Amino acid sequence: MSKLRSLTVWFNSGHMYAFIISILGILLFGYINKFEFLHYSTSSWVWVYALTGASLILTFSLVQLPPEGNEQTMESAVYLACIFVFGGSYTLTILALNCLIFYFFDRSTSWWKHLTNFSIYTVMICVSSFTFDVLGGLPGPLLNDKLTAYLLTLAVYFVSNTFLIGLYYYILYKGTLFETIKDILKDSVIVYLCTLVLSLISTVLIVHNSFLGLVLFLCLSTLLCYSFKRLFAMYRNIEERANTDQRTGLFNHSYFEEILEQEIQKSKDSGTTLSLAMIDLDDFKKYNDHFGHLQGDKLIAFVGETLRSESLKSGTIAARYGGEEFTLLMPDYDSQQARAYIDLLRKKLNNSRFTGVEIFPLGCLAFSAGVASCSSDIHDKSQLVDQADQALYYSKKQGKNTVHIYGAHSPLEQEIDFSQDVRDIEQQLNLFMYKDMETFRHSKRVFRYAMDISDLLELDTLTKRQFTLGALIHDIGKLEIPWGILNKKGKLEPEEWEMVKWHVTWGKKMALTNDKYKDLAPYIELHHERYDGKGYPYGFKGEEIPYLCRMLTVIDSFDAMTTERPYQPTKTIAEAIIELRACAGSQFDPKLTELFIGYIDSREPQHSEIVL
Ligand code: GH3
Ligand code: MG
Ligand code: MG
Repeated sequence: MSKLRSLTVWFNSGHMYAFIISILGILLFGYINKFEFLHYSTSSWVWVYALTGASLILTFSLVQLPPEGNEQTMESAVYLACIFVFGGSYTLTILALNCLIFYFFDRSTSWWKHLTNFSIYTVMICVSSFTFDVLGGLPGPLLNDKLTAYLLTLAVYFVSNTFLIGLYYYILYKGTLFETIKDILKDSVIVYLCTLVLSLISTVLIVHNSFLGLVLFLCLSTLLCYSFKRLFAMYRNIEERANTDQRTGLFNHSYFEEILEQEIQKSKDSGTTLSLAMIDLDDFKKYNDHFGHLQGDKLIAFVGETLRSESLKSGTIAARYGGEEFTLLMPDYDSQQARAYIDLLRKKLNNSRFTGVEIFPLGCLAFSAGVASCSSDIHDKSQLVDQADQALYYSKKQGKNTVHIYGAHSPLEQEIDFSQDVRDIEQQLNLFMYKDMETFRHSKRVFRYAMDISDLLELDTLTKRQFTLGALIHDIGKLEIPWGILNKKGKLEPEEWEMVKWHVTWGKKMALTNDKYKDLAPYIELHHERYDGKGYPYGFKGEEIPYLCRMLTVIDSFDAMTTERPYQPTKTIAEAIIELRACAGSQFDPKLTELFIGYIDSREPQHSEIVL
């Protein structure tokens, strides 16, 4: 059954539990056993030794359970058989002897943990033998007409074990008691059931074949333990294969995503730093073209092996992201430490010897890398990957063989880049000139509002870039909507409306095709989400929608309300403000709505007078 021996984390509440259960266990032992062993006959002692030996063999035969490798033992089968054949008091003697001998074998565990373990088992044995007695069970041979008594005794043993261990874990690790018990049962229910059935089998064997029966029972139990062990080893092996990239021995892409999610959560919970580096080998195509793919594979394996051994030394987690791209996840590294570390790796690879590296432009093996660190505004693992990817893109632009931190280039460079990005996006928006002139103008107006709001919110340069470019590009997906629907004068049919809604998803896909615009995707995809969760495409609610996407929704709607369009009613600024307020809390974030209204008021004071 579940063991406490491997636990190392103790809190005061854990001590309290141990203390109470120990007092209870000792009292019960004294009350039920009454030190009867002082009067045992020689033949009784022989059985005590034999059964204690059997229970110890099973105590040492640990069963490991998938998926976490939690350990369980099956000596409970001996205790239960003992209750059925010899009664509760005799069973307690065997338990006491088992725990005493185990204590001398396992001196690394403190005495009071041994005592707690002994006490938990004492309580379980007492409660079960009491149930057996009450239901009319008689110590001795297995009686067919008392089957209910046996089954209920097994059930009580099982329930009390689960409850006492579950309570202990609950006190130590909190959470809910129900969830804790569910977790224990999920992994171990098969071993529990085996133990219970084995106890009935051993009862029959002991009564009919005496010591030979006990030996047969032991053979059966240890073989079963061995089978469980093999099963676990197989599980671990398959798990490892599923998570490993066969060429490099590193973790593969899908497992990397799993760990990334866990590490981001850990870093958020504990407030520790976490950095991610994306690494891409420079000019690898050249190497492939020159030496062929098979030799290229060998080079990838070589880089993978280097990353693996270095990551083991530094406590980082290396994975093959795909092709000749790798990721390194660095818990407890801030972006500067991460950059310094990746730079060392880069130099190490520059200096490494491998067949044919002289054909690379620098005459050596080289990579470019981008580093991004987890901050509070990272909502999703893909954001961190995108940031690292963009930093990598920047490193490539700087001439390769460099490491760059996301958002760390100089203000002047940022301004030049920003103007260039605005021009690039405007060029794409030019397509609207023929398809839907109004969307073209609307995008530019929303962009200007976003610029003003960025200053008002004092956004840092990088966030301002994202927010304003996001505002400029937010309707790009409308390029995919047929001309007739986009310019329809009358009301849209339901299926036409459904098509219009798709523009956020199409737009996101368009942004993701260009590394430069990947981080704008949330603005495109989420600007039709509503604060009350009734928006599209996901129905995200409140703070599930990133802060600045909520701001963009307000700006976007305000501009749509106040823009003159042929054949459509237009609101005055004063009317639009009333409408914004009416929808604050349902469609819009109320705080951001007020902030935006404040901005409009300051721009157009004559309109605010009408409203106030
Ligand atoms: P850059 O410096 O811009 O990264 O140039 P590059 O030549 O490395 O170009 P890029 O990263 O875009 O392309 C990587 C190439 O790596 C494309 C593909 O032929 C090759 N490749 C991807 N996966 C494998 C693989 O498993 N084995 C081999 N041999 N080649 C691969
Ligand atoms: Mg590549
Ligand atoms: Mg490359």
